[in-house]
Amino acid sequence: MSRITALDTYDVRFPTSRELDGSDAMNPDPDYSAAYVVMRTDQPDMAGYALAFTIGRGNDVQKAAIDALHHHVVGLDVDDVIDDLGGFARRLIGDSQLRWLGPEKGVMHMAIGAVINAAWDLAARMAGKPVWRFIAEMTPEQLVATIDFRYLTDALTPGEALTMLHAAVPGKLRRISQLLAEGYPAYTTSPGWLGYSDEKMQRLAREAVSAGFRTIKLKVGMNIEDDVRRCRLARKTVGPDIAIAVDANQRWDVPDAISWLRHLAGVQLAWVEEPTSPDDILGHAAIRRAVTPVPISTGEHTHNRVMFKQLFQANAVDLVQIDAARVGGVNENLAILLLAAKYGVRVFPHAGGVGLCELVQHLAMADFVAISGKKDDRAIEFVDHLHQHFVDPVIVSNGCYIAPDAPGFSAQMHTHSVERYRYPEGPAWHEPADMARAS
Ligand SMILES: [Mg+2]
Repeated sequence: MSRITALDTYDVRFPTSRELDGSDAMNPDPDYSAAYVVMRTDQPDMAGYALAFTIGRGNDVQKAAIDALHHHVVGLDVDDVIDDLGGFARRLIGDSQLRWLGPEKGVMHMAIGAVINAAWDLAARMAGKPVWRFIAEMTPEQLVATIDFRYLTDALTPGEALTMLHAAVPGKLRRISQLLAEGYPAYTTSPGWLGYSDEKMQRLAREAVSAGFRTIKLKVGMNIEDDVRRCRLARKTVGPDIAIAVDANQRWDVPDAISWLRHLAGVQLAWVEEPTSPDDILGHAAIRRAVTPVPISTGEHTHNRVMFKQLFQANAVDLVQIDAARVGGVNENLAILLLAAKYGVRVFPHAGGVGLCELVQHLAMADFVAISGKKDDRAIEFVDHLHQHFVDPVIVSNGCYIAPDAPGFSAQMHTHSVERYRYPEGPAWHEPADMARAS
């Protein structure tokens, strides 16, 4: 018998604001950060790793929220956790006092998601499988047992979910082979940060196309003339066959979004991401109706499965982003993927930041194998930042994520990276800017 002996947390921040990497209309100077979790066991070589992603200030608040879950985790029998990941998640989410801080939204829910994801990492490591395969090889009954269907049954019942998952079983082995052979499509946001010059955007767009990406994404929403110029330049640079998406990062009110998108009408947008408040379901629906057929999306800040349910019920989106570190862990993302499959909504997972690519690739791949059965009409975001800090970094080749082989969720960071970038005491925060950047 093995026990969980510690839930260690670390405030890890990278000084990305020094180069305007990650700059967009709402987040002009992010320092990509991780409230990093290590769920230790009494076996020195066996632990679960995960993180909550933030963009700098507040990462200490996020870490404190994870620390507040200590009493639900430390001392538990490892087998009790990994054999009932649904029950584990429900106990964390159901804490009758902490629940007041949500419920199921914001800092506390992200903390819960990080701890749940660490438990999935531990379970997959003990099974010797990457998380995508660990999920894909669960039976439909096991998978449904991890999901909390509370507040969902007007849109999706456990019985319907079971029927969908059983229908996907016959093709699973074929799709695993296909995934291992082909990888999973990626798209890139690297050219599109708002802080970049036109020349840098064009150079990076050309490099993205020659690296095999079929879709690029540009940040918009600061200045309409700049956006029209940058989108037209990007279209001229990549030609008519490469898809161009734009991301407004919640910049607009509903009428502003509609008029702004009419100015961009000539660019043939693959989708418009986060045009307005992530909580405004009817606003998204209104924008979508007004600018049809331009596809509308949101999701990276959508707090939970209940919000996704309403987006689908209101026909408010053409596609969605999921985020591995925003909602209540793997369990809630499985619910969201099932809902998306039922409503026929394509999923383009949100990634970038630090560790989000590493985590979310597993969810998209599990979705392809065990849930939707689709990957060629969708893609996972890819940003080529900060992967060197991970023990099992993503591999993107010819515009596709290669399916990870190592056991776990790919979120374990190198010890030396954690030590170097711990905030505020890590040496990277006490060096001249150019030295910290170079590493
Ligand atoms: Mg986005």
